[in-house]
Amino acid sequence: MSNYIVLVKQVPDVSQITDNAFDPETGTLVRTRLASVINELDAQALAFANKMKQDSGDMDGKIIALSMGPPMAQEVLRYSLSRCADIVILLTDRALGGADTWATANPLAYAIRKIVNEIFKNDVNNYYVITGMQSVDGDTAQVPAQIAEELNLPCIAYVTDAKFNKNRFAFTRIISGGSQTVAAKKLPAVITVAKYEYPLFATFRRTRWANKTEVFQWSSKDINATHIGVVGSKTSVIRVFPPGKTTRKCQQINNTESLAKLLVESFKSGNGQALPGREAQTPRYVLPSKRASLFDRSFEGTKKEQEDYEILANKLKELGITEVSQIDEAAKEKILEASVDRFHTKALEDMINGFKLTKPAFKGEVWVVAEHSEGVVHPATFELIGKAHELADSLETKVGVAIAGYNVEPMAKELIAAGADSIYVIEDKLLKEFDPTAHRKAIADAISTYWPQIVLYAATPQGRMLAPMVSYRVGCGLTADCTGLDIRDNSRNGYIAILLQTRPALGGNVMATIRTKNSKSQMATARPGVMKRIPPDPSRTGKVIKHKVELSEDDVSLEIIKTELGTGQVNFGADVIVSGGKGMQSRDNYERLISMLCDALSKKLDTQVERGASRAAVEQGFIERVHQVGQTGTSIGPKLYLALGISGAIQHMIGVANTETIIAINSDPNAPIFKQCDYYIVGTVEDIVPQLVKALE
Ligand SMILES: Cc1cc2nc3c(=O)[nH]c(=O)nc-3n(C[C@H](O)[C@H](O)[C@H](O)COP(=O)(O)OP(=O)(O)OC[C@H]3O[C@@H](n4cnc5c(N)ncnc54)[C@H](O)[C@@H]3O)c2cc1C
Repeated sequence: MSNYIVLVKQVPDVSQITDNAFDPETGTLVRTRLASVINELDAQALAFANKMKQDSGDMDGKIIALSMGPPMAQEVLRYSLSRCADIVILLTDRALGGADTWATANPLAYAIRKIVNEIFKNDVNNYYVITGMQSVDGDTAQVPAQIAEELNLPCIAYVTDAKFNKNRFAFTRIISGGSQTVAAKKLPAVITVAKYEYPLFATFRRTRWANKTEVFQWSSKDINATHIGVVGSKTSVIRVFPPGKTTRKCQQINNTESLAKLLVESFKSGNGQALPGREAQTPRYVLPSKRASLFDRSFEGTKKEQEDYEILANKLKELGITEVSQIDEAAKEKILEASVDRFHTKALEDMINGFKLTKPAFKGEVWVVAEHSEGVVHPATFELIGKAHELADSLETKVGVAIAGYNVEPMAKELIAAGADSIYVIEDKLLKEFDPTAHRKAIADAISTYWPQIVLYAATPQGRMLAPMVSYRVGCGLTADCTGLDIRDNSRNGYIAILLQTRPALGGNVMATIRTKNSKSQMATARPGVMKRIPPDPSRTGKVIKHKVELSEDDVSLEIIKTELGTGQVNFGADVIVSGGKGMQSRDNYERLISMLCDALSKKLDTQVERGASRAAVEQGFIERVHQVGQTGTSIGPKLYLALGISGAIQHMIGVANTETIIAINSDPNAPIFKQCDYYIVGTVEDIVPQLVKALE
């Protein structure tokens, strides 16, 4: 008999953002001004657990919903009771507040242990932990993998289906370039749900029962977790700020003649955008010991700190002070008098102590964990090496790449040409296929042997799975999906040359800059398509270091049943790409309308035009997987991208960030893609495409 522990979270409703939800002064979204709802993917996880229970035919299995949050999070537990949960538990305590993913996963894992010991006591090894792939407020996808690491369980992430056969479940999950069916070699296991489109509805009877049923409340003392709240966290937020305005034009066009004209003009003039989503260029960091003046602190992490230090440096100059040792009590008095509104005694002392620091807070190389498949390095790895090169230059250290697999050494040459100095190769037959637990053991072992100061992973499904497990295993903080990585100082708090990690949060409605704390290394996953690859230099030299890790069959947690990857030829280097989404409605429509438009564009622009598709269109069988564009498909950068019947999900848009001009056709006037494109037309593809073809002719 299997039991199911479903993790549910209460989150702000980011789909209903009103203007008054923004702070008028800072422009940032105030979370408390939004309504609270159950995280949609957790609601799907609940329905998924219910489906598993039904499919297994074992109706004695219990579904336990567990949530961590303030007392009002009871609402999501009542929601769970009214759908399918048998027992609900709320982990609630002020001491748990302000936690990052490390200090969220840790208490949740301890609560799971308590559930297992006290409720499943007769069958402690036969359960699944099921949860949404990520929550809309954090968007990190780190917590489930870190729970799996704490509990030493296999984790199957990005699951879209489960089939019960021969007394066990086989799960279909999203992977880069396709999908895969896997089974856990043994239970318990953690499952994260990426999509399950069969919601559960509450009946009147069940709702009445849910309202009368007890929500068990546990405090931090009940679970004895080791890392909780702000103190137990390994990252801290330095600042929150509004996302910059898109550089796309977002212009609505009302007729196909005008659209055809604009399309041709954009193609001819290269009327493109400055690569939206790309990291903003900031001045390259210089170590304090290499700056012209000891008092130059222009690389502080926040504008306020930079300004404070500038004021202080100017004052010291006025006083003729050139050494920290010359700052005596009289000088301090004068400085305080002159800058009453700016800082007081304690702040001044901290800043002066900051001047005494010149050595970086972390030591070691800057590492990238390479992702690869079938002997081919993932393009995102090359982008990260480009970034690592820049960071390592500033820090006056080297770039290392850790690569785990079987027969992977031949890839070292290409990694060195891309900017790496040392390649740490971990070869083992057991690492032939990507297995989260085996790979995390291999990579974590290499990290804790060499201790690089920074470790970067690609924010692909694989990287977003591996990084949280590794970071938890080696006791380091991790920031997900970064779009900006910079070296900066926080001199006042005693940190020199630390990695500032900037990422979108709350569904892209705010940006946050984060730093690592209580860790030996700083870790981040970075969005593909954001960092820049440097041109390969085949004359570069580097060393290959073979790192041996003891692995056994027990380290492999998943049985891979089937892998489906895109095959065939596609020319994504074409200048124009026309993609169809689920809105194409049928394979016939896709075939007819996309072909028609591709032919017309090819003739009019005298160029090659290739077909693309969203993941949903591929899943509907409209076209082969090799045509998929996006995070788990291919990232492209054509002159013109036409998105037909595509909603504009982040996983799709990441793949087209480098496109010069994006044109969208969608029947929904509120389609999210309209805020991320240059020109759009509201209408059905069936109406618009033939008209556009005519206008082009
Ligand atoms: C880990 C992970 C990785 C992923 N990787 C990718 C990826 O690489 N690439 C990718 O594309 N997605 C990816 N996805 C899926 C992604 O989240 C979205 O589900 C997907 O992009 C949606 O595809 P869509 O826009 O075609 O479908 P939908 O979101 O269903 O949108 C269809 C759109 O068509 C419009 N429409 C409907 N009828 C018509 C009509 N007659 N005429 C015009 N418009 C119409 C609708 O208004 C709607 O906007 C990934 C998801 C996960 C969890």
